[in-house]
Amino acid sequence: MMAYQTEVVVVGAGAGGMGAALTAVDAGKQVILLEKGNKIGGAGMFGAQGLFAVESDQQKAAGSSFTVRDAYLEMMDYTHYRSNPNITKAILAKSADTINWLDQHGLQTELVNNTQEVHQSRPKVYHQYIDKFAAFDRMINYFQEKGGKLLTETAAKKVQTKDGQVSGVEIVHDGKTEVIECQAVIVSDGGYIGNADMVKDTLTIDSKDLYSMGERKATGDGIRMLAEIGADTSSVGTFENHAASVDSHDNPKWHNQTIFTLTNLPFMWVNREGDRFVDESVCYDFALWGNITYTMGGFYYFLLDQKTVDYLQNNELDWTDSFERTFKSLQHEAVTHKVGPFEKIDSDLQEAVDNGAAWKAESLDELATKLNVPSDELKQSVDSYNQLVEAGEDNQFYKPSKFVKFSVEQGPFYAVRANSTSLGTIGGIRTNEKMEALTPDNKAVSGAYVAGNNATGMYDTSYPTMEGISCAFAWNSGRIAAESAVERLNK
Ligand SMILES: Cc1cc2nc3c(=O)[nH]c(=O)nc-3n(C[C@H](O)[C@H](O)[C@H](O)COP(=O)(O)OP(=O)(O)OC[C@H]3O[C@@H](n4cnc5c(N)ncnc54)[C@H](O)[C@@H]3O)c2cc1C
Repeated sequence: MMAYQTEVVVVGAGAGGMGAALTAVDAGKQVILLEKGNKIGGAGMFGAQGLFAVESDQQKAAGSSFTVRDAYLEMMDYTHYRSNPNITKAILAKSADTINWLDQHGLQTELVNNTQEVHQSRPKVYHQYIDKFAAFDRMINYFQEKGGKLLTETAAKKVQTKDGQVSGVEIVHDGKTEVIECQAVIVSDGGYIGNADMVKDTLTIDSKDLYSMGERKATGDGIRMLAEIGADTSSVGTFENHAASVDSHDNPKWHNQTIFTLTNLPFMWVNREGDRFVDESVCYDFALWGNITYTMGGFYYFLLDQKTVDYLQNNELDWTDSFERTFKSLQHEAVTHKVGPFEKIDSDLQEAVDNGAAWKAESLDELATKLNVPSDELKQSVDSYNQLVEAGEDNQFYKPSKFVKFSVEQGPFYAVRANSTSLGTIGGIRTNEKMEALTPDNKAVSGAYVAGNNATGMYDTSYPTMEGISCAFAWNSGRIAAESAVERLNK
């Protein structure tokens, strides 16, 4: 068995792992960075477009008065003090410096307007990546020029300990098991959204109702490895719920742009009991939209009648596609605040029906049967909603009147199913503010550090609404983990 020797092993070359690996080489340490796939970056590159920061130079130059204190209080309030205040403060307080640090290491960002509709009146916090794929290349080149070693297509499998200290990492490369002897390991392999069994065990919804956009190679190896050496995994089970998606179980590659846009609009929604359940304009905040979909058991249906379909076919509608701003800000284009007309809406809906993502019926009774929801409940919900539309005011859930527009009266009727969607799992190994892995009795596991989606500490039951906070957590926790490891090695 071949053995490597180094001081620090970093597991996973995503946002957290890159933050850790570059920090450790900057401190003059020997570092081996392991990446399971043949490419670096993880969800921190293929998915993310930017990260949160507060009090950055760019924010100061733009005259922002939003402070670390404000962000800290907002976060603690959002999580009902279920997050760890020391970790939360450490991440937020470092976030501005990390913007400069990223810039110095090849990843430039630009402060842009918040990318979600309901965050427009809030302080600007989203630092959008510029040229991200080339930037990640620059960063990994920097790491290697500084003497760091990157092993791709190499998965960490087991953390070894000797006398209660981390002493090595077993890796699998080309089907062969090898060992890296080391004094510290920083585990940042992205959580476990890619592990169907682990996901199933921790979900409170049926796993077939969860649509994952997350990193498939994140299969919980890090959480398992650290649990094996005594780390506390009792807080595993938090998902980054994010919006809701229409997908086809029969044809996973199916996508229809009209149906995608319709899903991102606040028509009438009903749950599996046939009840309306929320002010549908929650779709303008992705975290809250994701959470309510999860709470409803993993999916809901949005309803359209033929009158609405005909309207949408022939008219422009002054509602905003909730994702428009996100996509337009990447292109630096202005938001139109309009959708439609959807000239092919009839055939688009038929395509959704054919792909098992929507249902069409001549009557509400027939629709209820097809959806397997109680018919009386569905009809009552629709009746009540139609009365709200007639009155022009939602006194049930207080949706802004602008969106109380389309009654559901005239068949054929359509129901399109929107599913719970996740960008990944967030949390697993309990840590302190130095990102040391903790045992159930709060002792640091000597030499073991955690970052990114693997680390518990800043979230409560769900993903906060602060834009870019999960990547901010990953980059900052990675940097902090490496600083702590270096401090320990220097003792
Ligand atoms: C579509 C999408 C869009 C997103 N947009 C944003 C956004 O705009 N802003 C934001 O803040 N957050 C966003 N996120 C979330 C953000 O990307 C993650 O929170 C962040 O990347 C987590 O960092 P990480 O280092 O924990 O995991 P990742 O960045 O996913 O990196 C984990 C890495 O570990 C590797 N790995 C897995 N197992 C092993 C193993 N055993 N050995 C070695 N390597 C291993 C994986 O291959 C991967 O490269 C988005 C996520 C998705 C999926």
